[in-house]
Amino acid sequence: MEHHHHHHHGGEKITADLKKIYICAIILNALFVAFEAWMGFHTDSLSLVSDAGHKLVDVFSLGLTLLAFVLSTSRPGRKFTFGFRKLTVIISLLNAVFVVVVAGSIIFESIEKMLDAASLSPDGEAISITAAVGIVVNALSVTLLSHKRKHDVNTRGAFIHMLTDCLLSIGVVIAGFVIKATGFVLLDPIVSLCIAGFILANILGVLVESFKMSIDAVPESIDPAKIEDSMLKVEGVEKINRLHIWPVSTTETALTAEVFVSPGTDRDAVAEVLKARIKEGGIDDSTLELRQSC
Ligand SMILES: [Zn+2]
Repeated sequence: MEHHHHHHHGGEKITADLKKIYICAIILNALFVAFEAWMGFHTDSLSLVSDAGHKLVDVFSLGLTLLAFVLSTSRPGRKFTFGFRKLTVIISLLNAVFVVVVAGSIIFESIEKMLDAASLSPDGEAISITAAVGIVVNALSVTLLSHKRKHDVNTRGAFIHMLTDCLLSIGVVIAGFVIKATGFVLLDPIVSLCIAGFILANILGVLVESFKMSIDAVPESIDPAKIEDSMLKVEGVEKINRLHIWPVSTTETALTAEVFVSPGTDRDAVAEVLKARIKEGGIDDSTLELRQSC
């Protein structure tokens, strides 16, 4: 009990620190979005406006991850027996759909601009300077997130994302120089298309995974065949029926099963071994119904 209490306390401390880190990263990136969008509109640069759209999506994602932390600690109630944890899945799905819409509109806008190349007048210098500020903002975000990334899978994802965003900003700085040096204005919508492609490549996996989770598919990180095999190998277990594995939230999984054991088996002992095997498979919350085969 004592140990459990301490462990719980440590978890809460990490979550509190994570919240602060996310709030800092959100404010930092939101300020940059406003700056980049303003620069983009005033210097007629689609690549800046597109990257502002991309970073706006990132701000939303960070906000949703923060919300997921809060929801994942929500306590079960009489009517909401799982708490509000499943909302993390719905939020993840909505976020992915929103991101696809943003990427789609950037692609549409880029093609429209490419077809009307004569009207393009992006300011290469402004693009480079703004993207350089972006590098600083991304580097600061990376530094913030790097402190706690070992404790949480979402934070590790955000860390890697901000790191790749740094590379993207470096690319935009170079594109700005090229536009200024050569006058090749078409590079501006081309960079926008690359940004949209980058966004889509990042989100498609999340879209598929969160859709599957919303219809209670087994999460990607869990191997159901391996779990069933390890359960069947337990001495006394003869058959498993109605095996269900489903996500309770984006980070937690539940399992229920009907297990038939041979006559004369100590059911409590078997249940304990089964639960340990299931836990090894990555599922903490399991409910088993043990029956005697006849
Ligand atoms: Zn990004």
